[in-house]
Amino acid sequence: AKGLVRHFPIRDALGRAKGAVRAVDGVSLFVYRGEVLAVVGESGCGKSTLGRLLLRLIEPDSGTLHFEGEDLRALSASALRKRRRRMQLIFQDPFGSLDPRMTVEAAIAEPLKLHGLHKGRERERVAELLSRVGLRPELARRWPHEFSGGQRQRIAIARALASEPELIIGDEPVSALDVSVQAQVVNLLAGLIKELGLTFILISHDLGVVRQVADRVAVMYLGKIVEEGAAEALFRNPRHPYTRALLAAVPGQGQKPAMLEGDIPSPVAPPSGCRFHTRCPFAQPYCREVEPELDGLTHRAACHFQDSLPPAPPLREAEPD
Ligand code: SF4
Ligand code: MG
Repeated sequence: AKGLVRHFPIRDALGRAKGAVRAVDGVSLFVYRGEVLAVVGESGCGKSTLGRLLLRLIEPDSGTLHFEGEDLRALSASALRKRRRRMQLIFQDPFGSLDPRMTVEAAIAEPLKLHGLHKGRERERVAELLSRVGLRPELARRWPHEFSGGQRQRIAIARALASEPELIIGDEPVSALDVSVQAQVVNLLAGLIKELGLTFILISHDLGVVRQVADRVAVMYLGKIVEEGAAEALFRNPRHPYTRALLAAVPGQGQKPAMLEGDIPSPVAPPSGCRFHTRCPFAQPYCREVEPELDGLTHRAACHFQDSLPPAPPLREAEPD
């Protein structure tokens, strides 16, 4: 993705334009085949909009999108539908993503029928998919309401896998689940991604989850990427003050820093210069005037003072599962 922009116009009661929510405001990113890229940030930073833009479920105002060299924005509606089979979205809400009037078998077989996959042996394929996600094939004839949240999300994953995708985007795929089952579902997803050689973009506000599975991380703030790099490097040596604040807020890492309390500034009128300056403990007058660009080679951050910040406190080891 290059230079993606998507603003949502706001109108008053009389329908007059009153500005726009600058949900995604110039985002460029890439993901390698077989990689887990996490897009992180607080809610309202634009990451869900970005996920939908990447799949062209919503249209960007500007910017370009290529998937394996193919220009997604140039595809016709029917070519795009074919393409989408290879690009699946898993939603946060395992309750909303399954039709309550369809048995598990019907829900998972639907994409098989739609795309003419495994003709004549759909039932076996559904059984295979269920065991892949750790569910007994006998459960196929049951209804979604008979399952727990974690099981429903497993079913949603099986359904996403049914169309044999190359790329999966998970938008907070475990955030609605009990903390006790989050790790199981994340580990399941990560295992499947590696085993099947899939590419995964994990959208999450939860750095604990991200740390378990991501190869690379992009941190978003108010519609822009402010830091991007290999997960290892980013967790060990966060270069942007916002990333540091997010990491300090991970449970077990201490207190939530005061700057992350309260709401992030409005994406209708983002702060001038560096968008983080209203919350940044290192902000200088210059930061209000001049917007920093992402700078660096493989580990990039958008902060004027990234090379002169005091060292970040070391992170504790991730909790064992
Ligand atoms: Fe903070 Fe300035 Fe860096 Fe922005 S550019 S993150 S305000 S130090
Ligand atoms: Mg969201």
